[in-house]
Amino acid sequence: MGTYIKRELVYEGKAKKVFGTDADGVCIVEYKDEATAGNGAKKGVIPGKGAVNNRVTNRLMRLLEGHGIPTHFIEELDDVSAAVRRVEIVPLETIVRNIAAGSLAARLGLAEGAKLHSPVLEYCYKNDALGDPMVNEYHIVAMGWASHSELETIAEYSFMANAVLGEYLRGAGIELVDFKLEFGRADDGKILLADEISPDTCRFWDIKTGKKLDKDRFRRDLGGVEEAYNEVLERLFGQG
Ligand code: 5GP
Repeated sequence: MGTYIKRELVYEGKAKKVFGTDADGVCIVEYKDEATAGNGAKKGVIPGKGAVNNRVTNRLMRLLEGHGIPTHFIEELDDVSAAVRRVEIVPLETIVRNIAAGSLAARLGLAEGAKLHSPVLEYCYKNDALGDPMVNEYHIVAMGWASHSELETIAEYSFMANAVLGEYLRGAGIELVDFKLEFGRADDGKILLADEISPDTCRFWDIKTGKKLDKDRFRRDLGGVEEAYNEVLERLFGQG
C-alpha cells in the first residue's frame, strides 16, 4: 500500500472531505457519517455510513475498472478513506434509471416501481443554489461544462456501469433501481469515473421483498437506516 501524507483540505462536501497529499496528482477522500437530504433541508448522522460508503464505493470502482471503465480510484487507505487520482470534476450529475422512482416517478406521474422499457440517462447541473436542475446535451455543450465527445464518453461509461453493476448487485439479491455518477478530467484530459457509488447515491431494492436498502430510508424517515447500509455492505462482501 502506498503511504500518502495528508495535506490541505481541497474540498468539503456534504458527505466527504477531499485532501491533497504529498504525491503529485493524488488526493485522499474521507467519508463522513453526516447525511443531508432535500438539498441540505434535512440533516442527520448515520453512524457507520462513512465506512460503508467508502468500502462499497471502493469495491464497485475496482469492479468497474476491471470491466474497462477508467476510474479515479487508487486504493483503500482505511475504513473511511481512499486514495484517488486528482481530477477536475465535470459539474454534472449523470443519472441512470432502470425502474421509475424518485424524481422521475414524480415528474412523469408514474408509480414508483413502474418498469421502464429501456434504461434512461439524465443529466443534472451540479449546483446546490439552483437545486441541481436537469439539463440536456445542448445546455451542457452551450455552457461549456463538457464537450460533445466528452459527453459521448460519459454516456458510454454510464451505460457500461449500469450493465456491470446491475449484474453484480443481482448476485447479491439487490435490484439496481437507479444511480448517480460523477466524472472528472485527469491532468491529461482523460475522462475518469469519480465521486462515489454507494447507498447514498444509488437506489438499491431487495430483489425478493422490494425493501429499500439505501438513502431513501433517511430521506423518507423509514427507519432502519444504519441497518440498511450495513446490509448492503454485508451482502457485497459476503459474495466474496
Ligand atoms: P432522483 O432524481 O430520483 O432524486 O435520484 C436519482 C438517483 O440519483 C438516486 O439513486 C439518488 O440517490 C441519486 N441522486 C440524484 N441526485 C443526487 C444528489 O444530489 N445526491 C445524492 N447523494 N444522490 C443523488
